[in-house]
Amino acid sequence: MCYQVVERYAVCRCLYHKHAIDPCAVYGQSGHTVQEKTVLVGYACGIHSSHRPEVGYGMGVLPDSGYESGVYPPTR
Ligand SMILES: [Zn+2]
Ligand SMILES: [Zn+2]
Repeated sequence: MCYQVVERYAVCRCLYHKHAIDPCAVYGQSGHTVQEKTVLVGYACGIHSSHRPEVGYGMGVLPDSGYESGVYPPTR
């Protein structure tokens, strides 16, 4: 049985690092499978540790375009 070590972030389960397959004597024969060994690393990836998608929505301040205040009257 071949093994392939796959490291994942424990928090978000994103892929951290996929190692090369460690082949055994019957590697490549029909019906032969590669056993995936998942190793968790104890933190979140860069995306999920620094970004919080829920926070920030609706908090952006839109600049006044001047459209409503009459600075730029609509041309017809
Ligand atoms: Zn094998
Ligand atoms: Zn992630």
